Amino acid sequence: MDINEFVIAQEPAIRLGFFFGVLGLMSVWEVLAPRRTLTVSKTVRWVNNLGLVFFNSVLLRLLFPAAAAGMAAFAGARGWGLFNYFAAPFWLAVVVSVIALDFIIYLQHVMFHAVPVLWRLHRMHHADPDFDVTTGARFHPIEIILSLLIKFATIAVLGPPVVAVVVFEILLNATAMFNHGNIHLPQPLDRLLRWIVVTPDMHRVHHSVEDDEANSNFGFNLPWWDRLLGTYRDQPRAGHRGMTIGIHRYRTAREVSWLPGMLTLPFKGRIDDYAINRREWSKGDAQ
Ligand SMILES: [Zn+2]
Ligand SMILES: [Zn+2]
Repeated sequence: MDINEFVIAQEPAIRLGFFFGVLGLMSVWEVLAPRRTLTVSKTVRWVNNLGLVFFNSVLLRLLFPAAAAGMAAFAGARGWGLFNYFAAPFWLAVVVSVIALDFIIYLQHVMFHAVPVLWRLHRMHHADPDFDVTTGARFHPIEIILSLLIKFATIAVLGPPVVAVVVFEILLNATAMFNHGNIHLPQPLDRLLRWIVVTPDMHRVHHSVEDDEANSNFGFNLPWWDRLLGTYRDQPRAGHRGMTIGIHRYRTAREVSWLPGMLTLPFKGRIDDYAINRREWSKGDAQ
């Protein structure tokens, strides 16, 4: 068995281990130093948000058993992509691949906000009326599948080492749970961390009900893209405790906190004139 086969075989167990490890750490941190008071009971949040994670994981394993790491091995075997075509030092290929994959995820996130039909899928992530570690893994199954297909295409063009893809998946999963944490970090530490990773205070701005704030801070892992591409917002106008989290129209527990409502959320509401770069919301508008 070569190293790639070994990594691919161990990948589900490694990822599961990191998932539960970070989930455990963050949930203890949230109890010890919470940032905001939750509006929905933690039991309801955990049952539904983590129920969705379980459903998504099973679905993805059934549809794409080898996942992104398998795609990297497939591209490698066929000589597809930049790093399979041009020889580069292994460490360089890993570093560049992780950074490039993160940039694509940033662009994908911007696209899911800008294109109306994609926003319908992605708004399920934003409809969560609270912001905690379980929000970080709460995505509509169709968004997860589209996201994986975009990752496959990126891997086919980039030709990253299998290890780079596994490292990236673990990093993204861990940082997404960290930066959705309902935790309080001292200001100086938050400012420092923001240069290398998206912090909870930075990503919380993105979950504001305010349209312009929700259309900022798209990064999940590296914070640089928002600063470089002009989508960075330092803090929410109403402050972290005063801001409202969620989206405009859908706010009842049945629609946003319980699985059946969450899964059908993309299909609700009339098709309106929501359009790219829309910045103003009048009262009673659909979103
Ligand atoms: Zn978003
Ligand atoms: Zn988020």
